[in-house]
This record gives sequence, C-alpha cells and structure tokens, in this order.
Amino acid sequence: MSHSVLIRGGTVVLPTGQKPADIAVTDGIITAIGSEVSDGAEVIDARGLVVLPGVVDSHVHFNEPGRAEWEGWEAGTRGAARGGVTTVLEMPLNAHPPTTTALAFDAKVAVASRKALVDFGLWGGMVPENLAELPALAGRGVVGFKAFMSESGIEDFHRVADGLLAIGLKVTARLNALVGVHAESHEMVERTTREVREEGRVDRLAWCRARPPAAEVEAIKRLLGCMRGAGKGVRAHVVHVSCAAGLAEVDAARTNGVAITAETCPHYLAFTEQDFERIGPALKCAPPIRDAATRDALWHALLAGQVDLIGSDHSPCRAADKRKGDDDVWHAWGGVSGIQATLPVLITDGLHARGLSLERIAYLTATSPAQLFGLYPRKGAIAVGADADFAVVDPQKQWTLDADALETRSGISAYLGQTFTGKVVRTIVRGRTVFVEDQVVGAPGWGQLVKPNAPHAN
Ligand SMILES: [Zn+2]
Repeated sequence: MSHSVLIRGGTVVLPTGQKPADIAVTDGIITAIGSEVSDGAEVIDARGLVVLPGVVDSHVHFNEPGRAEWEGWEAGTRGAARGGVTTVLEMPLNAHPPTTTALAFDAKVAVASRKALVDFGLWGGMVPENLAELPALAGRGVVGFKAFMSESGIEDFHRVADGLLAIGLKVTARLNALVGVHAESHEMVERTTREVREEGRVDRLAWCRARPPAAEVEAIKRLLGCMRGAGKGVRAHVVHVSCAAGLAEVDAARTNGVAITAETCPHYLAFTEQDFERIGPALKCAPPIRDAATRDALWHALLAGQVDLIGSDHSPCRAADKRKGDDDVWHAWGGVSGIQATLPVLITDGLHARGLSLERIAYLTATSPAQLFGLYPRKGAIAVGADADFAVVDPQKQWTLDADALETRSGISAYLGQTFTGKVVRTIVRGRTVFVEDQVVGAPGWGQLVKPNAPHAN
C-alpha cells in the first residue's frame, strides 16, 4: 500500500535557492515540490520552519561489530536522527574486525541493517596488509577507502607509509575509488610528541603542541606527492582538516587540476584550545582543537569556499576511556561525539554569527558529500525523484543540549551544556519521521545500505 506525506508551508532549501513550498512524498520518494501540491495521508505542518536536505554525514565511527560498547549502530543512528542526519558514511575503524576485507564489510552490513534508524554507507580501510583486498571491497560498494598517514591509535588498523600509500593510490585510481586520508605527518608528530613529553607535560594543551598544524600541512604535501604518477582517476579526500594552512594546500592543488577535496568538522569551528583546557578529554581529538586565531582563519577559509564538505567525525569511546585522561591528557582516548551538533553549530556560528547561508549549509552537509561519494541525485538535495530525506529546522530556536537529549552511549560530549540558536525539530528518512518533538521515533532496521553510483554515472 502506498504511503503519502505532505510537508506543508515550510521554507524549502533547494539547489536553486530557498522558497516557500509544499513537498509531496510517495513511498519515500519526493514526487512534487510547489504550491499546488495535493494532500497526503500524513500532513506535516512546516510553517515557520526551514526544510533542509537531510545531512549526509560522511564521517562517523560507530565501532560495531566488535566494540559496540563504544557506541554501536543503534545509539549512533539515534544521535543521527536527533541531528537531522539521514545518511551516515561509517568508517572502517574502530569496529573489530575493521572493514578491511569483504567479509568484514558483510559482517558490518548485517549488524547495521538490523540496528540503523537512518540510511548508511560504509567506508573500507586501506592498510598495509590489504591492498589485494581493495578490488573486492570496491565491488561490495564501499564509498571510499580510509588511510592513515600517522598512527590510528588502534592496533588492528595500521598506518600506510608514503611508499605504500603511493601504491594504494594506484590501485584505487584503477578502481575509480576515492581515498580518504588522515593527514598528519607521522614523523613530525612523533618528534614533537617526544619533545613535549620530555618536558613532563600532562596538561591538555600539551596534546595540541604535540600535533601542530605544520604536521597537517606536511602530510598533505606528501599526499600530493604520492598522488603524482598514480594515474588517471586518482582521487583523494583529506578528512578533518583543522587549519586554513592545510586547506590552502588542498586548494592550490585543486586549482592545478588535482582531484583532491577537504573536509572540516564542527568541533574545529565551534571550539578553541581554551575550551579544550576547560572541557578536557571530551574534546581530545587528532588533529587537535586549535587556538582562536587558527579557528577564525578556518572559518574565513570555509566562507571563502575552500572547504568541500563538513563531516562530524563522530568518534565515541567508553566513558572510562575519556575520564582516565582527566589529569593526564595522554591517557584519554581521542575522538569527539558530535553527530548531533553539525547543524546546530553551522546555524549558530555560521548562519547567525558569520552570514553562512542556508543554501551553503545544505551544500556543505548534504549535496557536496552526496556528490563526492556517488550518492547524488538519490541523496543530497531536495528534488523530485530523490529520496525524501529532510532535516526540518527552526533556525531561531534557542536551546541548550542537556544530558536527556544526548544519545551517545558514553554520555560524554563536549557539546553538553552548550547553547545554540537553531534546532533540528524533525528528521525524515525516506518519508518516515525518525525524530520529532524531542523524541527519537524511528525504529532500528529502517536504515538501508546505500552504495555509490557506478563510476562516471554522474
Ligand atoms: Zn574519524
């Protein structure tokens, strides 16, 4: 039996701009956008609200199978639902086994299909041991391959030295697959970490000093070197760039025709080192939170168009693994739980504070990632024929994130107690409301696997 939904009277953010419109949905697909849309069986009143395309969060870690106690697919996608995230692209680590083989891919799809409330795609991993497995993973439908230039922090996911990365990029170029790179220079981070630790420092800012922006810049330069000669079709995407200097390297290469893109994350836009000093391990991540001048320069670069997309890098762990670093930053596990924060941060600090338009927010959080990872036009924009994935937001609503509204399993988030102007009030995945009236109403198992379009399909 067909199910129809009418979203009435909202300000709809379309690729062509925002306009007041009704949206008709039948069986999870957008069938009409306009002013003469007839009634649906379910009518959603969006007057006074903004309808954005659902966020395609291309960078999350749910850690299941293997480390479900760190988060898991249900808690992770409940957070997605609250954050207006309708599709997640999940990283190959820190699940166990990591998604570095076709078998591990199948195991993760099995658990995600049972538990996810929102749609999901999977990254594969590129590690020294699995270059021969990359074609099989590509065949399974990974959205890209994640590689680390520095230590990942986890024993079953090794970094690839430059020589291996160059070989891996040749393999992925032939597969027309994208490589997502954690770009911090292993050699530089190792040296600066040793220097800082020899001073006996255990304070929070020691972590920042040990991993300077220069380590990102050097790694990006070396990545570009590895891409040279990899062949036609080589594509790289630098995840979680924290500084404008890193973005400038990417931008300069792109100007010269290199197929390289860059992500930044809400926590680099929302917080400074002073916040990290005050909040502590909840904000420990790599690359680290930067000083205020670097943060402001990152915003400037974003507003100038040098950021391709925003991903949350939602990466939780057990509460105890954060708390043990309260007095000694080296002991805390790294990773920020931020899947709920992307839109609130971009609306509060972007739209209201810096004039970042809603169209640009839609592009950075939905259209751009959907295009880069081959999910467009099914995902990423509000258009007839696309999946009916929406984040309905009240851009003027002031609110504070409290513990009741935080889904992450550990209960730990740097955003707890933060006040925002701009709230997700409803999230819709393929026509089904999964979050409304401050309640997650979606059901595990609703989420479906998405795979990239065949090469050159768009
Ligand atoms: Zn990550």
